[in-house]
Amino acid sequence: MKIVVLKFGGTSVGTIDRIKKVADIITKYVKKKYKVIVLSSAMSGVTNDLVNKSKKISKNFSDSEYDVLVSAGEQMSCSLIAGKLIDKGYKSRSWMAWQIPIKTEGKHKFSRINEIYKKGILKYLNSGGIPVVAGFQGINYQNRITTIGRGGTDASAIMFAKFFNAEKCIIYTDVEGVFTTDPNKLKFAKKIKVISYEEMLEMASLGAKVMQPHSIQDARLNRIDIEVKSSFINKSGTLITKRKNIINNKIITGISSTQNDAKVTLVGVKDKPGIAASIFKPLSENSINVDMVVQNISANGKETDLTFTIKADDLNKTRKIINENKKINFKSLLFDKNVSKVSIIGVGMITTPGVTYRMFQALAKQKINILVISTSEIKISVLINKKNIKKAIVALHKEFNLEK
Ligand code: ASP
Ligand code: MG
Repeated sequence: MKIVVLKFGGTSVGTIDRIKKVADIITKYVKKKYKVIVLSSAMSGVTNDLVNKSKKISKNFSDSEYDVLVSAGEQMSCSLIAGKLIDKGYKSRSWMAWQIPIKTEGKHKFSRINEIYKKGILKYLNSGGIPVVAGFQGINYQNRITTIGRGGTDASAIMFAKFFNAEKCIIYTDVEGVFTTDPNKLKFAKKIKVISYEEMLEMASLGAKVMQPHSIQDARLNRIDIEVKSSFINKSGTLITKRKNIINNKIITGISSTQNDAKVTLVGVKDKPGIAASIFKPLSENSINVDMVVQNISANGKETDLTFTIKADDLNKTRKIINENKKINFKSLLFDKNVSKVSIIGVGMITTPGVTYRMFQALAKQKINILVISTSEIKISVLINKKNIKKAIVALHKEFNLEK
């Protein structure tokens, strides 16, 4: 049985007209002899609206009732899709998570799909039906309705592809695919044809909001090919797959940038063992995520400067924690909110020497000063002044031939 999982995001089912278009897309696959499992999000705006309603009832709205409430949007979109398919003469029905069931584990609001009972859906597929399944929701082992985190329909789709051994999982959205850099900010951004899970994870966690990062991680673990494409225009999208499947002569696959970063520097910190731990322990205990870190080599062997980055939102909390930390001594504390992290990402850099140099050289030519550097196997990030982000991305895009 050739199974395909089709996931439709909120904007793809955002209006009645869009839902009719979605039904056309679904039937195209049926005509190609695929057994289609549809996963749908709520119509765009609906989930947010439900979340807001809960806030108006109570500042501490119950987590279990939150899940019942916010999962309601998917019931609406799924029945509309199934209804349209029936209207077109196809056999279709909607399935809520509890009817299948889709079993989840973990806390309310952030549950994880653990297993999907296949029997009912398989029988239905074999009878020629098109199941339209509610994304984002599940049911736990106490029979309570759960949700799996905002944007969770991506993860629902990946899990269906896994459990049903689907040939592919196609994520229909409002963008054409994954781009070399943010196409809303830079016109010359190019659609990436194929990208590895690892690169995609870096792109996603660094700010390219195409898919929910943990669903990409699930796809990677289960080796599921994902195609991301637009439900608005009929064009090929981006394939997210394993590295082995990628024949690519590019060193760099994409460039991403962050906003809302802040840089913190402790000047004149006593240079002795354990000092970094005493600085970062209380930060981590307060859930402050530290990203880039540099420590200067101390000239006199006694004092050093330590710089790190955090989210700008955490700045006040961080300042307070450091000032109240009795375990550390320093001369002064500096903050800079006007910073941004620009990263180049690509598995090609593993086998290509000189990438770091080329990046620094390209930035130097534009007189862009690098404040902090961090690297991983497939990524080089630099912290720069916010005002230079665009200039930096343009220069790097060109340096690594991404427009070709
Ligand atoms: N409707 C849910 C949300 O808006 C789930 C999803 O869109 O995937 O978060
Ligand atoms: Mg959504």
